[in-house]
Amino acid sequence: VRVGLFGGSFDPIHRGHVAAARAALGALDLEKVLFLPTARPPHKAGRAFAPALRRYAMAELALLDEPALEVSDAELDATREIYTIATLARFRAEAPALEPVLLVGADSLAAFATWRRWEEILATTELGVLPRPGWERERIEPELPRALARALTAARVRWVPLAPDPVSASEIRRRLAAGEPLPEGWLDPRVLTFVAKYALYR
Ligand code: ATP
Repeated sequence: VRVGLFGGSFDPIHRGHVAAARAALGALDLEKVLFLPTARPPHKAGRAFAPALRRYAMAELALLDEPALEVSDAELDATREIYTIATLARFRAEAPALEPVLLVGADSLAAFATWRRWEEILATTELGVLPRPGWERERIEPELPRALARALTAARVRWVPLAPDPVSASEIRRRLAAGEPLPEGWLDPRVLTFVAKYALYR
């Protein structure tokens, strides 16, 4: 049984995350997708995040009606940095019958060579890549570091067929901080209410 693992800051979770996970379910033949809100994203040191439990709660709200999209607390420990390689090892130890498929946005794939023990991840784990505008396959592939490009030719990597969606969490935070309206559909209405209740991005 194949299970998608989808890590991120989800600050906040938005339509792009949910639509991409939904598309991956069908395209990659996954039983479910686990969203893994990360307490301390190793790649994004230096900026402030909404509290991890608030980000976790927003993910639950946005996925309430999606039986196959679940939220996991596996990366929620704020006392240390948690790396994907460790999450994968733990997942395999705890659920040996399940096969993890790592879901990453195309922007994350472009930066993959900065991930801890990325070669080992690629050698052991199937990847599902989620298209994002500006990070088209033809555009990023020629610019990948050579070692990564070479490893990817041998790796199990599939691009999820999906129309790229320009929604991004940083643009959502920017608009909310500036008091600008959000385009219709970017945030689940329940998440929007939650964001307002705790004034998360003001
Ligand atoms: P930020 O704008 O704060 O960097 P982000 O949404 O890019 O936010 P994360 O919340 O960490 O960052 O994203 C989690 C994962 O979802 C990443 O792999 C990212 O590439 C992917 N992702 C984010 N937005 C989209 C989108 N619109 N379409 C497809 N994948 C996305």
